[in-house]
Amino acid sequence: MKKLWVPLALFIPLVLSERATSAEVRYEVEFPDPPGYQTLVCDFHTHTVYSDGMVWPPVRVNEAWRQGFDATAITDHIEHHLHEDDLPIKLNRSYELAAGRAKELKMLFPMGAEITRDTPPGHFNAIFLRDIEPLDTPDLIEVFKRANEQGAFVFWNHHEWQGEEKGRWLEIHTTLYENKLLHGMEVANGGKYYPRAHQWCLDKNLTMLGNSDTHDPDLIDRTSSDHHRTATLVFVKEKSLDGLKEALRAGRAAVWYTDQLIGRQEWLEALFYGSIKATGPNARSEKSLSLEIANSSDVDMKLKRIGPTGPGDLKLPARGTTLVRINLVRPDQPLDLRYVAVNLLTAPGASLPVVLKIEEK
Ligand SMILES: [Zn+2]
Ligand SMILES: [Zn+2]
Repeated sequence: MKKLWVPLALFIPLVLSERATSAEVRYEVEFPDPPGYQTLVCDFHTHTVYSDGMVWPPVRVNEAWRQGFDATAITDHIEHHLHEDDLPIKLNRSYELAAGRAKELKMLFPMGAEITRDTPPGHFNAIFLRDIEPLDTPDLIEVFKRANEQGAFVFWNHHEWQGEEKGRWLEIHTTLYENKLLHGMEVANGGKYYPRAHQWCLDKNLTMLGNSDTHDPDLIDRTSSDHHRTATLVFVKEKSLDGLKEALRAGRAAVWYTDQLIGRQEWLEALFYGSIKATGPNARSEKSLSLEIANSSDVDMKLKRIGPTGPGDLKLPARGTTLVRINLVRPDQPLDLRYVAVNLLTAPGASLPVVLKIEEK
């Protein structure tokens, strides 16, 4: 057969143009919306070259958008500038440089900054600011007051990081908390989970947050159940900056950290029951039946049986449907499958109890 030779040069423009478009692909992250709310995937702690990060500000927005996030904040240190020999210190500049990109990508992008002090008292992020410059002042209480006057939401970051008194709740924290100047805590930061912060959030009614605190370029292209940045899930009444702030102030948030969801029981229940649907039976005999359990979320659900019926351990993979065969000791026994979702943490060391009710096919 005669071969057809086509000059290679004809293909080159086509290949280049395809590469250019594929760089701007977003992959959605799937979490259910609790009744009456919309779930937003958020990261409120990132750095750029305007403090000690290694990326140019709009890149932070691109990364978060690409990974399916709905909101992000750049929170450069107010008091720490690694590149000051090369870049002038301009506290609002990273926000200004990235805000246009955020608008183009329809990302919620509150203005943020990290208040950076040795421990104690530690590091704090303020988001929803209007102007970071006035926060550059020595008196910490004054910094918090000025942030709050701007309507900021302020949270304590990575409280176990560095210093002899790291991880301790001290008088200064009580002062900030009692004056309602401090509204939340990072329960997880990057690759670390803080059980004490988790418990304090429960005890003191502080909002739980999980953030990346990323400094380097984030190379994740596509998020999966066990490969994603640490995130805050916020349950908003409306998708806007005001809606986001209202939800954070009201404590409607949970944390997505490694393969776990961390939060108050009501939010974890909403996430679990909004994701999991058991239907069946597909087939039935006197001694067994099979059913399907679908998980529409981006988190693998890892279950351990606490009731009499069902497999001892059950892993329901993210965005998958699992066929489960159940041996029936008595055919007339109730078919509620009682489990604990071991990777859904309602308190340090405590997992969410769940019941799988079978919807008849
Ligand atoms: Zn920090
Ligand atoms: Zn930081």
